[in-house]
Amino acid sequence: MAEWFRRSAEKIITYDKREIAEGTWIKCPKCSTVIYHKQLEKNYHVCISCSHHFRMKSTDYIQLLFQDASIQEIGENIVSKDPLNFNASKSYKDQIKISKNKTGLTEAVKSVKGEINGIPIIVCIMDFSFIGGSMGSVVGERISRAIDVARKEKRSLIIITSSGGARMQEGALSLMQMAKTSAKLAQFSKEGGLYITVLTDPTTGGTTASYAMLGDIILAEPNSLIGFAGARVIKQTIGEDLPEGFQRAEFLLEKGFVDHIVHRKDLKQKLSFLINFFNN
Ligand SMILES: [Zn+2]
Repeated sequence: MAEWFRRSAEKIITYDKREIAEGTWIKCPKCSTVIYHKQLEKNYHVCISCSHHFRMKSTDYIQLLFQDASIQEIGENIVSKDPLNFNASKSYKDQIKISKNKTGLTEAVKSVKGEINGIPIIVCIMDFSFIGGSMGSVVGERISRAIDVARKEKRSLIIITSSGGARMQEGALSLMQMAKTSAKLAQFSKEGGLYITVLTDPTTGGTTASYAMLGDIILAEPNSLIGFAGARVIKQTIGEDLPEGFQRAEFLLEKGFVDHIVHRKDLKQKLSFLINFFNN
């Protein structure tokens, strides 16, 4: 068999016709491989060909960490109000309603209490699909309450971030969450609590400027965009070209802002290892 034919033949993957009818195909933005969505789901939303990490929902992270083990949500009844009666192209009230219907979530973070590999933990998981993972007063409050429970029950705390920054529709009330969560984390740290952050694509703005960067250990998913202001704004401000890979996880690791880059399939194991190591 000719070499060219054998090579291409190896790549052919066949699927049952019914499967194709039920699902969709997704093209990897990095290597252009076309992947069946169920296959992508099974692979933790990581490209089977180049390991590109697609954005993942908070519910998928819960599945990844806890599988079917029982968990308890913290602050799930706290929902967004519209304190400023904010109106832009659409009203903030409508935006929340649309996001709830679209995502099935009630806010851009889920705080959860449970156990991974037998270790009691608290995890807060942000979700970019809910108004760009923006940090409003509900996000801040759900995270603050999670920190309170972690303090009280002496559990390690993990926050998985994914955020476009502060929620401008809530103005200063949104910015205040940076100070509030940072103060709570300082209390937690003073009492010896272990706090690990997992930065995913993208982690930017007020989220980066507060709890995302306060972890005792800062992990990041491969190639995640992590920064405060956008690259375009920085380029315009300083009038210089930015280095290659600027604001990507690997660049931040090299500069010492990130401690370790973790492939999603290893996340649960890595977190368990770190918590066991530091708590013993
Ligand atoms: Zn790929």
